[in-house]
Amino acid sequence: MSFKRFAGQVGIGAMVLALAAPAQADELRDGVRAQMPALMEMYRDLHANPELSFEEFETAKKLATRMRAMGFDVTEGVGKTGVVAVMRNGDGPTVMLRADMDGLPVVEQTGLPYASKRVATPASGVETGVMHACGHDTHMTGLIGAAQLLVDRKDQWRGTLVLIGQPAEEIGEGALAMLKDGLFTRFPKPDYVLGFHDAAQFPAGMIGYSPGYALANVDSVDISVPGIGGHGAYPHTAKDPIVIASAIVMRLQTLISRERNPLDPAVITVGSFQAGAKHNIISDEARLQLTVRSYSDETRKALLDGIARIARAESMAAGMPDDKIPKVTVQEPYTPSTFNTPDFTEEVMAGFRTRFGESRVMKVPSVMGGEDFGQFLRASPDDTKSLIFWVGGVPQEEFARAQKGELELPSLHSPFWAPDAEAVISTAAEAMAAATLDLMPASGG
Ligand code: ZN
Repeated sequence: MSFKRFAGQVGIGAMVLALAAPAQADELRDGVRAQMPALMEMYRDLHANPELSFEEFETAKKLATRMRAMGFDVTEGVGKTGVVAVMRNGDGPTVMLRADMDGLPVVEQTGLPYASKRVATPASGVETGVMHACGHDTHMTGLIGAAQLLVDRKDQWRGTLVLIGQPAEEIGEGALAMLKDGLFTRFPKPDYVLGFHDAAQFPAGMIGYSPGYALANVDSVDISVPGIGGHGAYPHTAKDPIVIASAIVMRLQTLISRERNPLDPAVITVGSFQAGAKHNIISDEARLQLTVRSYSDETRKALLDGIARIARAESMAAGMPDDKIPKVTVQEPYTPSTFNTPDFTEEVMAGFRTRFGESRVMKVPSVMGGEDFGQFLRASPDDTKSLIFWVGGVPQEEFARAQKGELELPSLHSPFWAPDAEAVISTAAEAMAAATLDLMPASGG
């Protein structure tokens, strides 16, 4: 996933987090602490050996091996490289914990002793370094940590625990691939789905959450705008696609500013505009590439319909013939928005506040970034509740310096993103295990 920092907006500037041991001893937290050396070893290995989307072969094998060793019934190759692990422990709800597994085509520049030196060749055909620049290595390690805590406490819960290692989040296809391969039919369908993402805008150990829409629908749209080519000195003999496309770019902005309710956020960004080859030639085509962000299905449809309407109308306004109107292509599959079931989210966060203290749990604004976590709820809207929460990863000292303006923090996907992995993993493992224990109490309550 990708979302930019917005710490300034949520007033956590002065936040100082007490990550030290809480006042009273806590049995679950002791369990995390005992596991940390082994978990950090796992993390460093995953970090040093990232794999690209749908190529998580070694990574999946590592997860599957650990899950089997803990006693889970493990199936590999679900949705290409996905892993599903099931543990039945009596009557009770089904809880699914999700971690994504893929790295990014980024050349790591953190200088860490366990920095990735891996290279791979993605679909583009150009060899690149590979890095866990989005922190999915912390997600996998946190998942294993939570699972171990739950396996060690099987007398404290009743129900079915499902763990998934999801491939290809970065290209927005992995969750859908697992669902299409029977995630909710071949395996127990979850009553609750939980996941977390490390966050490059929050201090290490902080938990952030957004009830309702947390992340946006992400559509990639291509527009090919035909013109009629000719000599740059004789524009009256041609139809200039650069001028038509420019008009399209400008009018697209009115879809947001003039047609949408200002309280319903949406974004249209034209990220690429290509046309022409030479000063004095009017080309016969311009090409635009857009990213389109929204939350609801209705807004998404209104934006996509509006884009097609404007492209066509601007072409007609320029006098282009009917058979040469722009071609608008919406890429499939798109990444749907992520919705955190509100009552469920607040319930889990109430537990986190009790456990971690008020200062470490904060409601934060939703963002227009994307994540394919939303697919799970969309596949089972009536029977399933879902929540993804953020776990801050910025080392405390760096966060403090950034607040004073002494440091620019790297974002997720940056070659410099080096989270305080210990804080992310220990917080996430404890949080996921605690939430799961609350959701499937042994007393059946
Ligand atoms: Zn991510």
